[in-house]
Amino acid sequence: MTTKRDFYEILGVSRNATKDEIKKAYRQMALKYHPDKNPGDKEAEEKFKEAAEAYEVLGDDTKRARYDQFGHSGVGNGGGGGGFTHDWTIDDIFSQFGDIFGGHFGSFGGFGGFGNSRANQRATSRGSDIRVKVKLNYSEIANGVEKKLKVNKYVTCHSCNGSGAASPSDFQTCSTCRGSGYVTRVTNTLLGQMQSTAPCPTCNGEGKTITKKCTECNGEGVVRDNEIITIKIPAGVAEGMQLSVSGKGNAARRGGVPGDLLVVIEEEKHPQLIRDGNDLIYNLTISIPDAVLGAPAEIPTVDGKVKIKIEPGTQPGKILRLKGKGLPEVNSYGRGDLLVAINVYIPKTLTREERALFEKLAKSSNFTPNPKESSPIFDRIRGYFD
Ligand SMILES: [Zn+2]
Ligand SMILES: [Zn+2]
Repeated sequence: MTTKRDFYEILGVSRNATKDEIKKAYRQMALKYHPDKNPGDKEAEEKFKEAAEAYEVLGDDTKRARYDQFGHSGVGNGGGGGGFTHDWTIDDIFSQFGDIFGGHFGSFGGFGGFGNSRANQRATSRGSDIRVKVKLNYSEIANGVEKKLKVNKYVTCHSCNGSGAASPSDFQTCSTCRGSGYVTRVTNTLLGQMQSTAPCPTCNGEGKTITKKCTECNGEGVVRDNEIITIKIPAGVAEGMQLSVSGKGNAARRGGVPGDLLVVIEEEKHPQLIRDGNDLIYNLTISIPDAVLGAPAEIPTVDGKVKIKIEPGTQPGKILRLKGKGLPEVNSYGRGDLLVAINVYIPKTLTREERALFEKLAKSSNFTPNPKESSPIFDRIRGYFD
């Protein structure tokens, strides 16, 4: 476990701060630690990212409620908890919360070209991400699996190769930006006057405009189609985990960068096995004679059945641990166990003959409970209080 600072503490607000107060606090932090204001300062960059992470959660009512109830584990990475937060990059922060800074950040007077390069990056369009769900059974989770997914999405138009123009000569230089792709403007912000660059609104930063559109895609450069995407899912994944397949999301308009395909894992319930982290639990109910005399038993596992031996004198509530028969740890070598919880079936009705046999047994001293003998169930309950 990594120790994370409290999100409220990071933004310096009280636990009952309003949404506006949180937004304001984040805005102040973001301006203070903005990388353009602190060039090369790693600590400021970390603070800038930390604040974004805190704001991602506290600025969203649902995530905030979950954080209030469960803390970091309610919104953290992995663990099957359906995590929200991820490692932020500076570019993520701008694409997610850019509007909070009130306009585009450009370079600050003499602070160098940081902002310019970012403005140019933003001028390139990016396709949106696509989220799909994949349902896996325990055997697929145990061994990893390759899945072919049919995804309906925007793909590059084959007719114009994504350019959006009827032919390669159907372009002219944009008159607004004279082909540079961006426009410069001066804005007044909290930090004083800032020169900022933004993608040209006329040509969307492309520097050129189409004179004759491709009829197949109506000048968009993308068309809707089905694509079969093969993904390799590693062993040990859990409900709610998300795998990201880079570049397999929607194609961007006219030659931009495609988005990602986000694959969300769903677990198909097993008819007999219950998952507990990497361990699996199986409920085995045996007869009184089998508990007393011992017997062979068959246990379902994710890789087929295994035979085990019930020892004579097995008590109800006993748990047998089949080492390594659980599920693997994702991206690791460890593997969980299969726990066999033993229950002894007590018949509720008896034939006359059975009744006579039990009455006979009741007289045998061996069937008189030994008060010193503790039950496995009691031992476990006591374990909670010790
Ligand atoms: Zn086209
Ligand atoms: Zn332009």
